[in-house]
Amino acid sequence: MTETSTITVRGVARRYGATAAVQDAGLDLRAGRITCLLGPSGSGKSTLLRLIAGLEPVDAGEIRAGDQVLSAPGRTVPPEARDVGLVFQDYALFPHLSVGDNVGFGLRGLPAAERKARVLKALTDVRLNDRAKSWPHSLSGGEQQRVALARTLVREPHTVLLDEPFSGLDAHLKSEVREGLLETLKAAGAAVLLVTHDAGEALMMADDLVLMDGGRVIQSGDPQECWARPASTAAARLLGEVNRLPAHVAGGVARTPLGQVPAPGLPDGPAALLIRPQYLRPGGEGLETTIETTRFGGHFSEVGARLGDDRVHLHVPGASARPGDVVRIRADLSKATVVPD
Ligand code: ADP
Repeated sequence: MTETSTITVRGVARRYGATAAVQDAGLDLRAGRITCLLGPSGSGKSTLLRLIAGLEPVDAGEIRAGDQVLSAPGRTVPPEARDVGLVFQDYALFPHLSVGDNVGFGLRGLPAAERKARVLKALTDVRLNDRAKSWPHSLSGGEQQRVALARTLVREPHTVLLDEPFSGLDAHLKSEVREGLLETLKAAGAAVLLVTHDAGEALMMADDLVLMDGGRVIQSGDPQECWARPASTAAARLLGEVNRLPAHVAGGVARTPLGQVPAPGLPDGPAALLIRPQYLRPGGEGLETTIETTRFGGHFSEVGARLGDDRVHLHVPGASARPGDVVRIRADLSKATVVPD
């Protein structure tokens, strides 16, 4: 366990009948950092979140907070004893309670003055301090979402788990609420786990990124590093469009249609070269390609082109490219990665 970890998850598994929802999964949640868990629908994200929350038992592995074992086979510390706050997409506020009373609901055991002070602080954190006396139905969707967050923050949990909390909001509100909410959480020093299936959201929001597929963590680390240096084709595709070209490794170097690329640690034999379309550009002395398709995308066009037996996608400035044009392209091979076939 690293010293700054608030929660560590190691080798965790959860099965439903024949479905292995989560297998051998591991991650660390750290104070003041946002960890985004990204994967396609059904990849096990929500199950892993529920395991961390203590809503379900683990079949294998361990979840710890410092020296305390929260989950292990046969042992599940209940959610209310975990110091973990949960925010789901369908945040249900009590319609018959004011905003302030919704937020203070979980603090009923405290003296009134302390409760009031903490509710005000939590509402200030989500910039709704002037709405304590309002009724939930008088608030916009984004404001209601912030009340739900305040209700979690007011208990000052060391860990906050958010399951697709923005997917019910329209695009405009989404970015507004997202920014404010995550800033607030970071400032509060909470360790945050944000589950999402939106690659753009994960790349923008994450301090630490965890990619899941088929119940497994397939890569984790710095978002830029995951984007530029995916560990596998599946990891690369989760984060956006990528070119995949055949490669042949011999002695730690891969021969590819774009040139030679270092492939340290890979065994001799067939492999694959991954490179994002952004790193293929039209250029003077480059490789000859024939444009097959173009899609105008604003300041660049997404272009499909034939390179020998292979097809590549690249970004060409403006709308200058036309099907049938022969263009030379250059690859920034420092941004390419060779992965097992
Ligand atoms: P995600 O959040 O990435 O969409 P989930 O964790 O919800 O994925 O689901 C992972 C897999 O486990 C899916 O195949 C899903 O159908 C299955 N699953 C999840 N929850 C249950 C459950 N309570 N009972 C049976 N199968 C479940």
